[in-house]
Amino acid sequence: MGRIIAIANQKGGVGKTTTAVNLAAALAAVPRKVLLVDMDPQGNATMASGVDKRELENSSCEVLLGECPASAAIVTTPENYDLLPGNIDLTAAEIRLMDESAREQRLKTALGAVREQYDYIIVDCPPSLSLLTLNALAAADGVIVPMQCEYFALEGLSSLVDTINALKGKLNPALEIEGIVRTMFDVRNNLANAVSGELTKHFGDKVFRSIIPRNVRLAEAPSHGQSIVGYDRASRGGIAYLGLAGEIVRREKKMLKESA
Ligand code: ADP
Ligand code: MG
Repeated sequence: MGRIIAIANQKGGVGKTTTAVNLAAALAAVPRKVLLVDMDPQGNATMASGVDKRELENSSCEVLLGECPASAAIVTTPENYDLLPGNIDLTAAEIRLMDESAREQRLKTALGAVREQYDYIIVDCPPSLSLLTLNALAAADGVIVPMQCEYFALEGLSSLVDTINALKGKLNPALEIEGIVRTMFDVRNNLANAVSGELTKHFGDKVFRSIIPRNVRLAEAPSHGQSIVGYDRASRGGIAYLGLAGEIVRREKKMLKESA
């Protein structure tokens, strides 16, 4: 059964989409069967996967609205993972869902039908706690939080932790922060190192060992419609995301062993 991981942080520009796309591609390279779900109306994860968001027949919008099954919207990408693409139509879906019953559970229900086919389902969230993010969090087994080690980052993180704990009771009792990944990291930056130290002090094992460096190849890849694995897997960014995928796979193996 596919493990559903939401990539969430209410802050924009912290590397959610970069992490979602490159983690999907890195897990596919391991190799695992992966589905990437684009829940952001900006459709950046869709474009970065080499799929044109302006030419979608079906998308996560129709799936959320119950107008088509997930299987009818999922496409294959040149990167060896599948994609449930998204675009600006998600904004309309969000508005229409406002009056519907069980509106936070739509994604979970839709993914239920395809879950068996995947090892991992990675959901890219928009930068807000909108209904779209709530759908992702309701469906998720775990949340991965990308964060930049900046001055206000820890404050933002603790508010995200509070939100997740509040949602746990209402929406999804199984919801846990699976891990925190440091993104756009610059080892020469003293503040980044200090914040990183605080982070590991407070969150211990939850902080992934793999650190994603600031790396121009990661920023370039989406403009070629490629993940870093397709674009330049030997780059520092590529190695870091492959390392993160390895860490996730090892953690899960360990968890399965402990529960057996
Ligand atoms: P979010 O989805 O959280 O809004 P993005 O993943 O879109 O954030 O990243 C914001 C911007 O930073 C993008 O232009 C992206 O290419 C760039 N970026 C993200 N991670 C890195 C990195 N590790 N190194 C260099 N640029 C990065
Ligand atoms: Mg994004």
